[in-house]
Amino acid sequence: MRTPGELILVSNRLPATVECGPEGATLKPSSGGLVTALRPVLQSRNGHWIGWPGEDCLGEIERLVAREQSTAACHLVPVSLTPEEQKGFYAGFSNEIIWPLFHDLQSRCNFDPAYWKFYLTVNRKFADAVAKVADRDSIIWVHDYHLMLVGGFLREMGLKNRLGFFLHIPFPPLDIFEKLPWRSEILRALFDFDVVGFQTLRDQRNFAGCARRFLPNVELHRSHEQMIAEVDGRTMLIGSFPIGIDFKEFSDAAGKPQVAAHAAEIRRNVVGRQIVLGVDRLDYTKGIPERLKAFQHLLATQKEMHRQITLVQIVVPSRETIPKYQELKTEIEMLISQINGDYGDSGWVPIHYIHRNMERTDLLAHYRIADIALITPLEDGMNLVAKEFCAAQAGDQGVLILSEFAGAANQLRNGAILVNPYDIENVADALQMAFRMTDKERRRRMRKLRRKVRNEDVFRWCADFFSHLEVPGPQPAAGSTMKTKVTTLVPRIAPVKTG
Ligand code: UDP
Repeated sequence: MRTPGELILVSNRLPATVECGPEGATLKPSSGGLVTALRPVLQSRNGHWIGWPGEDCLGEIERLVAREQSTAACHLVPVSLTPEEQKGFYAGFSNEIIWPLFHDLQSRCNFDPAYWKFYLTVNRKFADAVAKVADRDSIIWVHDYHLMLVGGFLREMGLKNRLGFFLHIPFPPLDIFEKLPWRSEILRALFDFDVVGFQTLRDQRNFAGCARRFLPNVELHRSHEQMIAEVDGRTMLIGSFPIGIDFKEFSDAAGKPQVAAHAAEIRRNVVGRQIVLGVDRLDYTKGIPERLKAFQHLLATQKEMHRQITLVQIVVPSRETIPKYQELKTEIEMLISQINGDYGDSGWVPIHYIHRNMERTDLLAHYRIADIALITPLEDGMNLVAKEFCAAQAGDQGVLILSEFAGAANQLRNGAILVNPYDIENVADALQMAFRMTDKERRRRMRKLRRKVRNEDVFRWCADFFSHLEVPGPQPAAGSTMKTKVTTLVPRIAPVKTG
């Protein structure tokens, strides 16, 4: 029998992906910040994880998921998507509309009206899967921008469970969000959750600003740093919960002998030079071309740094079916080849380019060996790589250069060198500063960073979110003058036919 209050996690991806090759199907652990962050959380709580396992090969999903089941921390519930749904919902609505818009890159959006139908259909599918496994006491926690309507559908079905939603990506300011043709429907559906969490206070404020503009009857009130509203007789909480990493796991793993051995091997190939490390999914929000141009600027203006510095740029393949991502890969590879051609010689390759998903040991060895991490997204919900790099610096030696537009910048500003990723001179100057930084200063900064990442880890993030999700939200203080009544302002999500 299931325990009351069991957790149901809902995310676009299951924590494992089916891959179809000539030898049949295999199930591989998924990469990405969400999976990395949630795995340890699930290991400490029984429950279900509902998500898409990737492409289906001849009905192999059930068998593969069943095999994974024995080692998984929870019961995996696969949601299958048809090829049309993968295109319209995942590649289309989620990644050609919401992803660029919420990262302030509206010029990259393709507001194809056909995508909306798929977003509705697939969100409904996920809600159906939740309703099938939920009992009266289940706590349901939905993750990220792919599934913003799930709460709305669950309420339509009559579920009264506690529903939480956490947005891993930024929430844009009003003047960006208002471009979204489906702005009211999405906002309205988010108000069907009991707790809505964002990475930063800025995201939380942006959301509140949009709600005030498009849901004029919503009365939002501050409760310390958070906000509350009464929605259909429920008290809803809106807060910022910056996600962390499993610091101990990263720190311990980075100290293992096999990681040390691999780090030494990498170091042997780059003797006498400082290693600058970039680690990113292939994505235009990560600012990789801008970073390469900053490195190019450094080499063009600081001849004495030639042969003294090497950039190791790891690019993890991502969303390869979307044309904009293919174009970005070509752009990156052309820039790297141009810089290496212009500045390299037979004894020095300025940029080492690695295009693959790395094994954990390999990634940790790179974190460990790096003298400088150069993490310069144009906009990023959090950026876990920045925190993982700090966790791996047991010797307190590495320097973190971090974009001021990464969510992590709020927590890591004391210790990191913050830069504007669009300002290539600023980034090049930061590289110089890091390159010349004394060991004492490096240690002073890294100690601060590690303390912060250790204290605000993924367990604290989870506990914090749960402390609000598990219990009914805060009630208005006695004598409060709040008018907290919300009526249904826009029609609930239009019904969609599934199947
Ligand atoms: N990562 C990985 N394989 C790699 C490089 C990175 O699994 O070869 C992981 C990394 O450990 C981190 C995640 O991918 O946990 C990236 O998370 P981040 O928040 O930095 O960016 P996202 O990809 O989620 O936008």
